Amino acid sequence: MDIHDLARRLQDGDRRALSRAITLVESSRADHRKAAAELLGRLADPRRDTIRIGLSGTPGVGKSTFIERLGLALTGAGHRVAVLAVDPSSTRSGGSILGDKTRMERLARDPAAFIRPSPSQTELGGVARRTREAIALVEAAGFRTVIVETVGVGQSETLVSRMTDIFALLLAPGGGDSLQGVKRGIMEIADLILVNKADGAMKEQAEATRTDYAGALRLMRGREGDAPGFPKALTVSALAETGIAEAWEEIAALDRHRRTSGARDRIRAGQNRHWFEEAVRHGLMAHLTSDPATAARMEALGDAVAEGTEAPAAAAERLLRDLLSPGEEAR
Ligand code: GDP
Repeated sequence: MDIHDLARRLQDGDRRALSRAITLVESSRADHRKAAAELLGRLADPRRDTIRIGLSGTPGVGKSTFIERLGLALTGAGHRVAVLAVDPSSTRSGGSILGDKTRMERLARDPAAFIRPSPSQTELGGVARRTREAIALVEAAGFRTVIVETVGVGQSETLVSRMTDIFALLLAPGGGDSLQGVKRGIMEIADLILVNKADGAMKEQAEATRTDYAGALRLMRGREGDAPGFPKALTVSALAETGIAEAWEEIAALDRHRRTSGARDRIRAGQNRHWFEEAVRHGLMAHLTSDPATAARMEALGDAVAEGTEAPAAAAERLLRDLLSPGEEAR
């Protein structure tokens, strides 16, 4: 494969080249990894001009309807929009909630949009790297607005919030106790809560849900130095197409504020550091277990810990001491 040519075509906006490049970064084959690293290294970095939005919500809440309407509004205004998905369900069963090809049909046909379903992978950690690399690829291909969609299960929200600038949570109108069911941790990372389906018979309930969440958000915090009023709760109707322009205006306003204050760059810098450290951790573990003697020792110490003959922290310390400064015991 000619990586130079692939990089050139991708940056010229060739969609097939972009799809191929994403397939390449999704692969874990050693030769593909090498080619992917070379490709990523060759791409010019347009990242300062891009906006990355994380959007989470449980299945059925209206994510694809909302993203399609928002996406079409944005492409209509001259933006180029990429939609990527992180779907933990596809990592477990091979079946994907977000991968369905019929989702966002109109947006998928829009030449100014690019939609890529979640890679099926065996572990969420691998999905994180692949998605971050896919973000770099779509950005290099000229898609300056990137929406990373995820379903509200497991740790996918935290993961997505660590690779995006702004994180929005899409909810359906709740019943009497509408705050129930949204984990506090998710509320803490949300910049925007969007109560969808604020239409027809559900309109009033949606407004009540919004008020409840707005109250809960006020009690939690504002990120220091963040734009006033954030995090915010709004109502939208993806179906009736109301509130979508307003939701975008809030996202854009928060992004402008953070760019001006330097917070956006600080957030991205912190994210890069986090993923670097993750990669080191991951690599260390892989290195450890690739040496048969070390793997066997780890297994044995693990058994001892499981049986209660060794304390976990002490066993880990012993393993690490032997590894990092071999021969020390002899002295
Ligand atoms: P996803 O699983 O989160 O992607 O949800 P979908 O976008 O597929 O929507 C699930 C169902 O909710 C579909 O039947 C949509 O037509 C419906 N839906 C989505 N948005 C709205 C909305 O704003 N109002 C109403 N009434 N229904 C909606």
